Amino acid sequence: MRCNICGSASIGPLNGDGEFPACAACGSELRQRAVALLLSRALFGCDIALCDFPQLKSIRGLGISDLPMLARPLERFFTYTNTYYHQEPSLDLTEPPPPELGLFDFLICSEVLEHVMSPVSRAFEALSRLLKPTGFLLLTVPFGLGEQTEDHFPTATALKVTEVDGKLVAVGHYPDGSYRVHDNLVFHGGHGATLELRLFSETELKSQLASAGFTHVSFLCEGNDGFGVAFPSPCSLPILASKTELTLIRPALAELVQSFATQEVIIRAAAGSKWLRLGRALGLGPRLGQ
Ligand SMILES: [Zn+2]
Repeated sequence: MRCNICGSASIGPLNGDGEFPACAACGSELRQRAVALLLSRALFGCDIALCDFPQLKSIRGLGISDLPMLARPLERFFTYTNTYYHQEPSLDLTEPPPPELGLFDFLICSEVLEHVMSPVSRAFEALSRLLKPTGFLLLTVPFGLGEQTEDHFPTATALKVTEVDGKLVAVGHYPDGSYRVHDNLVFHGGHGATLELRLFSETELKSQLASAGFTHVSFLCEGNDGFGVAFPSPCSLPILASKTELTLIRPALAELVQSFATQEVIIRAAAGSKWLRLGRALGLGPRLGQ
């Protein structure tokens, strides 16, 4: 199987959990490969490996704590910035900076919203406002198929995780001024704010997206086995959301046409070169423009 991020044939067959393993070359897991696949479908309407994308610097993207194996190629192909919660360049989804609003053609928000303080509607609104009207959001977040989101600390205004007798507990500050201690915490991998604050329901995700203005929402049900992207369950599928029908923006289209035109000129120039004519006469060299 070919990894659709780094392009190497480094993904083994499905494991016992029905998931393709991590790429032995770049370390990509299902989540990152699914995001790259969804980005390819959103931009081009077909499945292209990220390493084979054309360079389209007129497209502006914003990552929210993307992993390096995804962020590096995105920086190469697009005008893309990755942001973090705990380091610069930082982005607080509860208070997005006004100068950044309406700037982006795409946002990647992967495994973030389950860690954002309530009310989580602020984060959905921020995602919507950061995008251009024609932009789109690639969202992954753990979700179940029930009706209700399980919000572990729905009314806490602040939370701090601390260790007591070797056990991690969360101390919550509540609107009535009280403090409460919570145990049985769920943490997700990675660094920074990784305490799980909620497990979304599919119903609430759809409703939050609709309230934030995302009128077009689709779930990535169909993967691509050749890229090591398959979903063993209908839970937590990656989501593509936009405020309008998707279309490649005009400057990006112009870049693509320019790039094809340049290649055509190079091919014609090469085909007319005397060295190539000589090579052809000798039955050598590439067959260009024939
Ligand atoms: Zn890879």
